[in-house]
Amino acid sequence: MAAPDMDPANKPASIPLHDPDTAARQADQTDKQALIADWQTLHRVFIRPEDEGSKQTLIKYMEQILFGLHDFLNKHVGVTEEISLAELSRSYMDVEINAEPQKKLADVIEDIITDIAPRAVNVASPYFIGHMTSAIPFFMVHLKAISAALNQNVIKLETSKVLSVLEKQVLAKMHKMIFRYDDAFYREHVQNTRTALGSFTTGGTTANITALWVARNKLFPPTQDFSSIEEDGFFAAMQAHDLDRVVILVSKRGHFSLRKAGGLLGIGNRNVIAVDVDDNRSIDLEKLEATIAALKQDGRTRIAALVGIAGATETGVIDPLPALGNLCEREGIHFHVDAAWGGPVLLSDKYSPLLAGIEKADSVTIDCHKQFYMPMTAGMVYFKDPKALDNIAYHARYVNRKGSVDLGIKTLEGSRESSSLILDAALKIMGARGYGLMIEHGIETARIFAEKIKARELFDLVSDPTLNILTYRVMPRDIREKLAAADSGEIAALNRFLDEINKSIQRIQREAGNSFVSRTRLRLSPSDPYNVVVLRTVIMNPMTTPDILDEILDEQEMILSTLSW
Ligand SMILES: *Cc1c(COP(=O)(O)O)cnc(C)c1O
Repeated sequence: MAAPDMDPANKPASIPLHDPDTAARQADQTDKQALIADWQTLHRVFIRPEDEGSKQTLIKYMEQILFGLHDFLNKHVGVTEEISLAELSRSYMDVEINAEPQKKLADVIEDIITDIAPRAVNVASPYFIGHMTSAIPFFMVHLKAISAALNQNVIKLETSKVLSVLEKQVLAKMHKMIFRYDDAFYREHVQNTRTALGSFTTGGTTANITALWVARNKLFPPTQDFSSIEEDGFFAAMQAHDLDRVVILVSKRGHFSLRKAGGLLGIGNRNVIAVDVDDNRSIDLEKLEATIAALKQDGRTRIAALVGIAGATETGVIDPLPALGNLCEREGIHFHVDAAWGGPVLLSDKYSPLLAGIEKADSVTIDCHKQFYMPMTAGMVYFKDPKALDNIAYHARYVNRKGSVDLGIKTLEGSRESSSLILDAALKIMGARGYGLMIEHGIETARIFAEKIKARELFDLVSDPTLNILTYRVMPRDIREKLAAADSGEIAALNRFLDEINKSIQRIQREAGNSFVSRTRLRLSPSDPYNVVVLRTVIMNPMTTPDILDEILDEQEMILSTLSW
């Protein structure tokens, strides 16, 4: 793994960095004067550094940001500072915009480091294992700064040029990681301006919406007096095709962005049908088949897409992708794989077989700000068919004209950052192997964690880690004994009681600020009639060790011992 180049002096001089601190420097020299906004000062904010002195100032501020924040993140092992939200919000009541400048850049940075950072959540802490947001490699901050400094807009070639070309290359690399077509295919499409292998998005939500938008539009070919659902709307589409209803199928573990897509696309989020899961906590294939058969019966319902999950948000579980792929092929249904979380597992030789079948997908979502460890926010969507995105193509007179190569023609988003620059650089620095190692660390540490939970009398593992996510719950001794002897009515009551205990433990631990796990609700087994509260952990920080996990469990036992009932 190549070390990131840390020496700012090695920055090529040709990169036109903005100089945000010229105004501050100016103010430095006239320290006693009040800060004012005048044209001359403003103008200087936009001039790039000309002399050694201004360069030094620029570097000084970058140092303050990189090391000030980094020191903070190292020292501050806690997850949050002990300050209540109510107390915090009282300091954020003023709604007047200051007419004149209030602070110099140096002071603003200092304020952010001393006032904002400690009261933000230290998601980089190895004790922060509750969510899919975590530590990022150090060099990501540099790459993000470059992206900001270049400030390209990949909506159109005129504001991005090489970044549009680079984006197509990175999209093709990822497409190949998923679909594994031969070299000739990628030679044809990598820089083909008439086709698109995918698109960067602002995240998994917009990636899923894009995929389902394409799937919906594909459903309604033109008829005599109907052109497309995009043009004529949902009502005309249903009439032209003599339909009552369009649905999307996904397991109960589907991400809520799919329901948003249902709402936005006019399908109705009630028609995003949640199919039960089976003993493996993945979609129940028998129930899925039965659902499809029932939907087909009246001939007036059409299935826009079946979504397979590759790394469910709550459990990390992967649906049986090969079976889902075959089913979709048989039924002619658009197969979307939501691999927002699990996609990068493809970079681990050891665990990529878990995602076998993903190549059968018509479309795939992968988030960059999850297991590609990129800073907020970036996601991606991929299509097997290089023409699929034509279904959502839009043109405008001033950009994205017909026949142009502008990437913005086939995206949900308008203006967009050049996220491909960051992903491409990260892949160069880490290599597939580097990412693979992080994936393997997460999965293997989660497995060790599962063993620890099973070995402790006061805990029950609820869902095994297929990937690096697992759920469990705290189980006091007396309740465990009562459960063993209880009838079904008593079991329900005891579970409600356990819910309250687990909720309290999660809340008290979060508020103490040393560590963080999240919570959700799951069924203990598919035949259970109700959900129970479970603690949820996501092991993605390479600094999270088995010892730290023991400490987190110890703390939960300690909290339990302070609760009385
Ligand atoms: C996180 C996630 C999403 C949504 O992604 P955002 O980047 O938060 O919009 C969708 N699907 C799955 C499986 C996810 O884990």
